[in-house]
Parts: sequence; C-alpha cells; structure tokens
Amino acid sequence: MARARYCVNNNAQPDSNDHEVHRAGCTFWPSNRTELGEHELCQTAVAAAKCIHSDVNGCYFCSRECHTTWISTADKLPSGSGEA
Ligand SMILES: [Zn+2]
Repeated sequence: MARARYCVNNNAQPDSNDHEVHRAGCTFWPSNRTELGEHELCQTAVAAAKCIHSDVNGCYFCSRECHTTWISTADKLPSGSGEA
C-alpha cells in the first residue's frame, strides 16, 4: 500500500464530536486541518491525530477501515440492565 498524506479536521463532526482523519484526495479534505504527514495506514494517521484531538475517527469515505462511529450505533442494541 502506498503512503499518502493524511490530515485531521480541526472542526469536530456536529453529530459525533469526532475529529475526522482524511487521506489526501478525499472529497471532504477539510480546510481547517492539521497535517499528519505521510502514512501507509490510516491507523497510524489516527494514532497521530489522537495526539492533537482526544476524539478521532477515520473518514467514512477515504479511511473507512478506520471509521468506527458505526460501532456506537451497534452499542445501542438492547442489552439488559443499564451499565454505567
Ligand atoms: Zn475523508
């Protein structure tokens, strides 16, 4: 896999409060961003972004293997007693 430039959006997503990590060429490449340098995998780009923002998520479109917000939707399945 080729290395690519990644950045993190300095604006959090309004729905999830995540700061999305984007790969160069993405349609949603943000203008208000912090460059993360070149990475071979979105996982390492996300790790770098976590040094800047605590809530980080891969972009669904360009870094889908790092997009994790859908997991929180699955967590909403009924699962017995409420757990803090
Ligand atoms: Zn993207």
